[in-house]
Amino acid sequence: MTIDATPRNIAHLTGRRRLLAGLGALPLVGAAGATAMPARAAEPARTQARIVIAGGGAAGLTAASRLAALLDGAHITVIDGRKAHYYQPGFTLIAAGVKPQGYVISSTSEYIPKGVELIAEKVAEIDPEGKAVVTDSGKRLAYDFLILATGLELNYGAIEGMDTTRIGTNGLGSIYHSPQAAAATWQALNQFADTGGVGLFGRPLGEMKCAGAPLKYTFISDDHLRRRGNRGKAELMYMAQSKSLFGVPIVAEKVRMLFQDRGVKVHHEHVLQSIDPDRRIAIYKTPAGTLEQGYDFINVVPPMRAPEVVRNSPLPWTEGPWAADGWAEVDRQTLRHKRYPEVFAVGDIAGVPKGKTAASVKWQVPVAVSHLVGDITGKPSADMYNGYTSCPLITRLGRAMLIEFDYQDNLVMSFPGVIAPLEELWISWVMKTMALKPTYISMLRGRA
Ligand SMILES: Cc1cc2nc3c(=O)[nH]c(=O)nc-3n(C[C@H](O)[C@H](O)[C@H](O)COP(=O)(O)OP(=O)(O)OC[C@H]3O[C@@H](n4cnc5c(N)ncnc54)[C@H](O)[C@@H]3O)c2cc1C
Repeated sequence: MTIDATPRNIAHLTGRRRLLAGLGALPLVGAAGATAMPARAAEPARTQARIVIAGGGAAGLTAASRLAALLDGAHITVIDGRKAHYYQPGFTLIAAGVKPQGYVISSTSEYIPKGVELIAEKVAEIDPEGKAVVTDSGKRLAYDFLILATGLELNYGAIEGMDTTRIGTNGLGSIYHSPQAAAATWQALNQFADTGGVGLFGRPLGEMKCAGAPLKYTFISDDHLRRRGNRGKAELMYMAQSKSLFGVPIVAEKVRMLFQDRGVKVHHEHVLQSIDPDRRIAIYKTPAGTLEQGYDFINVVPPMRAPEVVRNSPLPWTEGPWAADGWAEVDRQTLRHKRYPEVFAVGDIAGVPKGKTAASVKWQVPVAVSHLVGDITGKPSADMYNGYTSCPLITRLGRAMLIEFDYQDNLVMSFPGVIAPLEELWISWVMKTMALKPTYISMLRGRA
């Protein structure tokens, strides 16, 4: 049975309250991401440690909440100049026409726990030798511990001709940019679903957050066209940056089969180089040279890298696959910096093989926090992060596959016997569209 999950029929889903009551109690997703201590210890540890958290997004706020619960007397400061908090996993749902723009927007300050200071500025400089950070107004904050949680930078500038102010016009979509861009992308897709034509999808080279999102949006676009009886008028192409569709081989194979089934043409090793939004032409670098491809709709996913402040600091890897884009050089199991032991990196900025999802944050932060608290109490932690990464991969409106995996590319199952990872299930769709946001908010408050 297929659920018609377009906005007018969403009420249909809300009818299944009993099931949702159960889902509301779920972890963000995942039961096997780490071995970690609870957010609230029996007795908070007394300390006067100065802890600076650079970045107040998913990882920074979760870290602040957990530290505030575990420590008594610590000076905890979150630095983030962005007043709005974005629930980014919801961007795809806005761009699918399933949720309104406001669904993902709240304010950073509402998640700052009691006793934690929020400095509404950007970190402009990190000095791990001097154990201090400097804000953009020149304020210098010394720390005993630094939690780096700046997320990543969307490098739209690397795509020649890309103009983010034009998202939503002339068939140009780009979900990642912002809630506004996700809503504008839905306007562009909505038109495309009426007319058909050539639709281009794909992902950039390098590490990215939620690598499933570009795939999801291809499936969503296919479904909108079908629902309007216009699939026959459209040609959908997925430009994969490598020889594979996804980093986990068994998932890549499943997506390949689904794309074949839905008639999505896959072109491997095609990397978007430039775009001409007026002429609706995208130019790809391919092993055979440059390819010019016209389009009626395109979802641009930009290359991603560490924010400038981290790239310009001594914290990135100096060699290996994560050096060029500036990802922080941390141990993949403890998230502790390899050269500066009082620094931890959590969330998207961590230079580890997997883990650029909010679901990973849920498992990374308790581990980093437990090691930091262990340093304070003198009782070293043995908690480890196993690479847990998760992505509810929407395969049509009303269906998703809950993909969960670890550093070894093992599929890990949070709900064995209930949710099979490679099956397109209604329950996984309900998790994505209804249960994940409340659980994410609980995570920010240190309760999930
Ligand atoms: C389209 C899309 C779909 C996604 N889908 C999913 C999904 O289905 N499931 C899932 O689990 N995850 C998903 N994600 C990924 C998830 O949102 C991120 O992995 C998660 O938000 C990472 O948390 P973070 O704290 O590292 O970064 P963010 O939440 O981005 O927070 C980083 C914070 O750091 C701040 N900052 C940046 N630079 C500085 C500076 N110099 N000084 C101070 N502060 C700074 C920013 O303002 C921001 O508030 C998706 C993301 C996108 C964009």
